[in-house]
This record gives sequence, structure tokens and C-alpha cells, in this order.
Amino acid sequence: MSNTEIDKSTAAPVVASSTNDAGPDRSRRRLLQGACLGLCGLATAGASRLLWSGATAPSNTVGSDSLSQISEGLESPKSHRLAYADDVLLSAQDLLLATALHARLLALRDQLGHGQFNLLSFDQARRQAAQYHRIGSFTAAETAFLEELFYRDAAELGFRSERVVAQLSHSVKSTQLVKVGEMGNFLYDGAPQALFQRIQRDVGNSLLLTSGIRGVVKQTHIYLDKVVACGGNLSMASRSIAPPAYSYHAIGDFDVGQAGLGQGNFTRIFLDSEVCHRLRDLSYVENRYAENNDLGVRYEPWHVKVA
Ligand SMILES: [Zn+2]
Repeated sequence: MSNTEIDKSTAAPVVASSTNDAGPDRSRRRLLQGACLGLCGLATAGASRLLWSGATAPSNTVGSDSLSQISEGLESPKSHRLAYADDVLLSAQDLLLATALHARLLALRDQLGHGQFNLLSFDQARRQAAQYHRIGSFTAAETAFLEELFYRDAAELGFRSERVVAQLSHSVKSTQLVKVGEMGNFLYDGAPQALFQRIQRDVGNSLLLTSGIRGVVKQTHIYLDKVVACGGNLSMASRSIAPPAYSYHAIGDFDVGQAGLGQGNFTRIFLDSEVCHRLRDLSYVENRYAENNDLGVRYEPWHVKVA
């Protein structure tokens, strides 16, 4: 998933809002459901459950013809490009926190480089952020938000795969790593590395490792990237990106792509690539998120299941 398992669809304007915000007798952290609808990406006028609240679809809504071209083979039962009435949404206050955190993590990534950032634990991230004036320490509110985001049950967001990482303090064991390629990606030695090498032998040198091991910080960053782009719609973001504690990239899975495709490797463009065609012919390669899976996650033909 940019270096993330996402396409780079842009956020659409908020088209509906509600005053159903956290009241004084509710926790500040209460997440709104069905309120402050933020729509990201593309939407279809044919989606019966899409919340337009009777309003005209945003200007970036695509027609059914173009949507069918885009979505073919890359949709979960609920489209990752659409918002639904029962989606869980951040409050406006928490969306501001998410946005600030995303920016702080981005600054940290720029400071440390992709390789180190991919493997960073939260304790390391906190220490590193405090060391650099231009990044600055996580605030107490940001830390509380991160903890809540990490420990919340993703099933509430429609993400039905199992929790993979138990603790926010999880760290990647540096002694088990093998660096692959020049993009700062790593694999665990043993089964993940052996599987990647076998695939590379069978597919050829045009095959790249586009995303390997991701620590909790990296997964949180790409998840927040999507959450912010979705205007705070956690459910919608979770249809594209695993929530921070739920990514199998933490324990061995990896993404592959074709050299030269760039971010296209995380979109339907990949489906037409030679690497994807070759991959599909390899009986020993299994997708973690298969087509029409019942996990609430979109089809990811680039994501190789290891664990
Ligand atoms: Zn992946």
C-alpha cells in the first residue's frame, strides 16, 4: 500500500454534516457515526447506500461507465471509494489531531529516511521526534489518540481480518531483517525472503519489492494518510488500508510490483502488468486480500500472503 497500498485519489469536499458531536457528557474521544460525512476518492451515482443526503453529487463524482472501468477487479463488497451510512467517522476535533499526527510522522519520515521509518517503533518515534526541533514531541492528546486508534476493534470499522500486533510498543527485531532493493524495504529472513526470491526467480528482474516489513509507526502513517484523505471516515480508510494493529506487513507479508509503474503498482494499473500476469500463474502465490474477499478489504493483487 504509497509505499502505501493506496491509490492516490484525492479528498472530495465534505457534502453533509451534522451537529451530532460529542456532547459534554460524552468522552471527547467519541467517534461519530453517520455524521460529518467526508467523501474521498470517486463515487458513483449508482451506489444506493451512498450518503448524499439528497445533495447533488460532488463535482469529482464519476459516471457509472468510468467507475465500472476503474473498479473492475479492485473492489471489496463495500467499495473503498465510497462512503456508507453506517461508516464510523472521526469528530472534527479528532480529525485535526489525525492531521497533525500525520504531518508530524511525515516530518519524521523525511528526517530519518524510508528505511529507518519503515521499521520504527513508537517508543523510538517519540524519542526521535523530541530530538528534532522541526518535528517536536508528540502532544499528550496525540499520544492518547494514537493509543485509542491502535487498540480499537477494527471490526467496528468493517475490517474483519484479525489483529496482528498486540501492543503499541511492538518493535521489529533488527537481527531478523534482510534489506531488499534500494527503496528502504526489508523482509524477514526465513520464509518471507525465501518466498520473495522464489517469485523473483520465476517472474524475473522486472519484479520489485514495493513494500516489505512495516512497523507500527509506518502502518499508522499510511493509515492516517488515508483517514485524512477520507475526511476522517475511518471505515472508508479501513477498506483500503489495514488499521495500525492489523497489517500482516508487521509479521511477514509483502507487496510486489513491476519496475517503472511507480504508484500504479497499488492501483488497477498493476492488473494489466506483466508481473501481475506472471504472478497469477504461480500456484504457490496467495493473495492476502483476494478478489471478493469477505474481510471488508479491497482486492490487493500485489499483496503476497506469507504468514
Ligand atoms: Zn500489502
